[in-house]
Amino acid sequence: MPDVLVLPGDGIGTEITPEAVKVLQAVVKGRSTSLNFNYGLIGGAAIDEAGKALPDETLAAAQAADAILMGSVGGPKWDTLPAGERPELGGLLKIRKALGLYANIRPVKMSPMLVDASTLRPEVVKDVDLVVLRELTGGLYFGEKGRKTDPASAYDILIYSEEEIRRIVELGFQMAGKRRGKLCSVDKANVLESSRFWREISSEMAKDYPDVELTHMYVDNAAMQLIRQPNQFDVIVTENMFGDILTDLASMLGGSIGMMPSASLNGTKGLYEPSHGSAPDIAGQNIANPLATILSGALMLRYSFDMEEEAQMIERAVEAVLADGYRTPDLAKPGDKVLGTREMGNAVVEALGS
Ligand code: NAD
Repeated sequence: MPDVLVLPGDGIGTEITPEAVKVLQAVVKGRSTSLNFNYGLIGGAAIDEAGKALPDETLAAAQAADAILMGSVGGPKWDTLPAGERPELGGLLKIRKALGLYANIRPVKMSPMLVDASTLRPEVVKDVDLVVLRELTGGLYFGEKGRKTDPASAYDILIYSEEEIRRIVELGFQMAGKRRGKLCSVDKANVLESSRFWREISSEMAKDYPDVELTHMYVDNAAMQLIRQPNQFDVIVTENMFGDILTDLASMLGGSIGMMPSASLNGTKGLYEPSHGSAPDIAGQNIANPLATILSGALMLRYSFDMEEEAQMIERAVEAVLADGYRTPDLAKPGDKVLGTREMGNAVVEALGS
């Protein structure tokens, strides 16, 4: 039976993860694969209980688990600690790095029910269904960095090895092959040598994936196209910094941050979490939107356990609940039926059966 480590974390993390677990338990009930859930501490909760944001016990449990479901970490209580000890750097970034999670996947799908919630015009966002695949452990953020004097200056080196490029682009081809067969590799090959290297390798790899159409796009144009005509994209694959910026930009195409799931993979293991933070401003009130975490659970079934049918069952149940007019307060308009965090989790479980 696969082991799932649940790390609720801080703030609304402790409210939204139980809802995702509830939905996962309901969807696998009576199926051939069931899931075993274990729990651990991360973030501020771990600092308070165990003295550091990523206790050794949590890391060992994460290494042993088949998949990890995380809430979110951080909050004002721990903001005055030195940066390296804080929940975000000492907990979240540390676990991502320790597990070598090199691929960050963020699907962006506009629910027809939420078209009005977007800041963009309905006709632009109504058919959005894309995935941004971001390289997460290389590039500028992990290259050599430093300062120099005379003249005073600072530098960050952008370096990618062939292997780092191949493994993320390969995932892009595989993912596009299972979707609409379109892979757009985003780079800045008109300026950067690392991008020209990326383009050479991805073009060469395309021969092994005749069913996938590979295109290349400069990152500045990609930013514009995501706003201008986002439905032209199926899968976007890109390096770390470009992906950092484009994933946040793309997340707004889906209407609300409370709807955006994510997966970070290393080939054998995945960590699944909502794209938003711990929302201390609304924590403890049973008003947080649990859908991003519930949809992250669907990604876990898809990418860690190859349970595509069950993943889609969760995604359809979320759609059905929204179609019935149920909303958490972050999405609600006058006339909508407003539900709390727990009640939204219950509604998704109920919709699974229908
Ligand atoms: P945030 O995403 O927590 O909140 C931004 C705004 O969105 C807030 O108004 C919040 O109420 C709202 N919001 C977020 N998620 C929501 C949900 N599920 N339902 C309804 N409303 C929601 O970002 P922030 O305020 O910049 O950060 C708060 C804390 O979270 C900080 O300590 C930050 O470092 C941390 N953080 C953690 C992660 C993570 O764990 N992956 C990511 C981002 C921020």
